[in-house]
Amino acid sequence: MEDEIGEQIRFVLEDGNEGLRAALDPDSDLDEENKQMNRELIQQHEQILAKLDRDEPLSQEDLVVVRDANEIHVNDSLNLGGRHEQAVALDKWLDQAMDMSVDKAMRVLEQWLDRDSHTPARVYRALRTLREEATPDDGDRGPAFDEEGKCLKCGSRISFADVADTVVFAGDEIVKQYPGDITNRHCVRCHHLGLYPEFREHDGGD
Ligand SMILES: [Zn+2]
Repeated sequence: MEDEIGEQIRFVLEDGNEGLRAALDPDSDLDEENKQMNRELIQQHEQILAKLDRDEPLSQEDLVVVRDANEIHVNDSLNLGGRHEQAVALDKWLDQAMDMSVDKAMRVLEQWLDRDSHTPARVYRALRTLREEATPDDGDRGPAFDEEGKCLKCGSRISFADVADTVVFAGDEIVKQYPGDITNRHCVRCHHLGLYPEFREHDGGD
């Protein structure tokens, strides 16, 4: 791992912990459940920092945590935090270092195809055919959500999902839109703990 990359990983984890610790302050209005999640995330960050200290390679799971922590700096295009450029470099590095799932691979291809408004609809169909071919066990994974959309594992109602619509362009104009299926639906609390507090307020009800 190059020095600048290691340095940026340290930065995002330490910076993230600073924010997470601030929210643990007794005066903070964060509830106990969220405070507990913050503590767990701080611990994950500390474990990764310790691995860096020992020059130990990071696991794929570690890289997911690093990517989540880096994201806020990638999105900081005004560079208010002063680390935008390094964050973009780390993001690119993560692209190479992290395993690519079939779904992710399809999304990457789709995004590039979307840049060209002349991409014919049958190319998207070809992509979907490949995806179905590559993930024949889709059904075997079983539903991750109940009929009310609650995560079967943790009961949270907040999930991220992709919707792949097929849009027909005539020149720059969209002339028809075929609504797509929801794919790639993940529980935010189970898979993106760091982002969950942002959506926590929508999770009420019980
Ligand atoms: Zn969940």
